[in-house]
Amino acid sequence: MSDVIRVVLSQDEMPKAWYNLAADFPKPMLPPIDKDGHVVRPEALTAIFPENLVEQEVSTERWIPIPEPVREQLYLWRPTVLRRARNLERLLQTPAKIYFKDESGSPSGSHKSNTAVAQAYYNKVYGTKRLTTETGAGQWGSALSQACQVMGLPLRVYMVKVSFEQKPFRKLMMQTWGGECVSSPSTLTQAGRDVLAKWPDTPGSLGIAISEAIEDAVTSKDTKYTLGSVLNHVLLHQTVIGLEARAQFRKIGIYPDVIIGCAGGGSNLAGIAFPFLADKIDGSRPNLRVIAAEPTACPKLTKGEFMYDSGDVAMMTPLLPMYSLGHEYQPAAIHAGGLRYHGMAPMVSHMRRLGMIEAVALPQNECFRAAIQFANTEGLIPAPESSHAIASAIREALRAKEEGVERTILFNLSGHGILDLSGYQAFLEGKLEDYEFGAADLEKSLACTRGLPKPPPLG
Ligand SMILES: *Cc1c(COP(=O)(O)O)cnc(C)c1O
Repeated sequence: MSDVIRVVLSQDEMPKAWYNLAADFPKPMLPPIDKDGHVVRPEALTAIFPENLVEQEVSTERWIPIPEPVREQLYLWRPTVLRRARNLERLLQTPAKIYFKDESGSPSGSHKSNTAVAQAYYNKVYGTKRLTTETGAGQWGSALSQACQVMGLPLRVYMVKVSFEQKPFRKLMMQTWGGECVSSPSTLTQAGRDVLAKWPDTPGSLGIAISEAIEDAVTSKDTKYTLGSVLNHVLLHQTVIGLEARAQFRKIGIYPDVIIGCAGGGSNLAGIAFPFLADKIDGSRPNLRVIAAEPTACPKLTKGEFMYDSGDVAMMTPLLPMYSLGHEYQPAAIHAGGLRYHGMAPMVSHMRRLGMIEAVALPQNECFRAAIQFANTEGLIPAPESSHAIASAIREALRAKEEGVERTILFNLSGHGILDLSGYQAFLEGKLEDYEFGAADLEKSLACTRGLPKPPPLG
């Protein structure tokens, strides 16, 4: 059965509950704290999130049922196919089997729609009247715009300026689905005006846009804030990916040896990997490898430090225990906009700290080369973010060839690149630069975190 190219599940086989890795942590995760080092109570989060999502944020229940109205929306594109990249294997002449989960078929074209429909639903039933959010490359803003349209919620999206200018089509997708999209930093918020005064020429950053979206939510009536990655409940919603993949591999009698996801805030990696990581934690699959693939320009897991850091520039969020490059990190203008966030999800950071996952940093030219090899063999044009997972999978497949071992590699195709063709253009014209985040950059970007409370050593 292992020569099956497309492993499909029926609608009935879509998971009915999300998997919460917090139920199975070998050691507990550190809680968020405030600047004085006090634990932030969940109730404090209800200023920006509805109570039902805050409940999920702190839950240690292993299985959390997916409400029927959310499942109904997910059925529009789920279960997604598990596909074997047979032609890519042939091109690489590798004994490795390469599989990928194709998350590019959602309305927004990425995995972000999985949590967008859930977050819009929970806000709707809670009684939220309006939502705000930020978006980097625009995938999250477009995913949430579509979900808000379905659930009947008005939405304002603060879009990182450089993407707002480089990616007009994402903005138009948001507008098509009824979302309001503004360039960040904007003059609509104090946070935006402060940044513009300090750095008038800033290309913007996710950290800045988050500050603006939170300020808007807390200063407007019946308005809540949403985040497309990083938080526990967002990672939870993405576990449908890995749960489906597990069921699909079970169908063909295979278990993957290596699981790879690109890592921006950590949600698609967590989504594909966490349901499998449970087997590594309980000792039944001790050799399972999980790899986070990040850009050399934003190497928070490979070069950042595990620390308490703010999720945004204006320090409006609690301090989160995570690998970070510092909340004032100003990203290089790489094309994988979704991988430019300064921090890594606390749950993924925790797994990294416990040695349960590995990380690799890849330069963008290698990633675009991999993307083109993938497009030429498998037909799909991947998002520049996803190309980091592909490049890492190719490295692993070539290593398997060197070692002469048959190995099953699974990666997450987090989205398609049809709206990122300007990145492909730059690559094809030989104009792409690789950025290496060096020691001097690191020292500079971490400076803003030096006075913050330190996490206790791993007990
Ligand atoms: C947002 C995004 C990412 C990065 O976010 P994660 O939370 O790390 O998954 C990766 N790929 C695509 C296509 C995205 O839209």
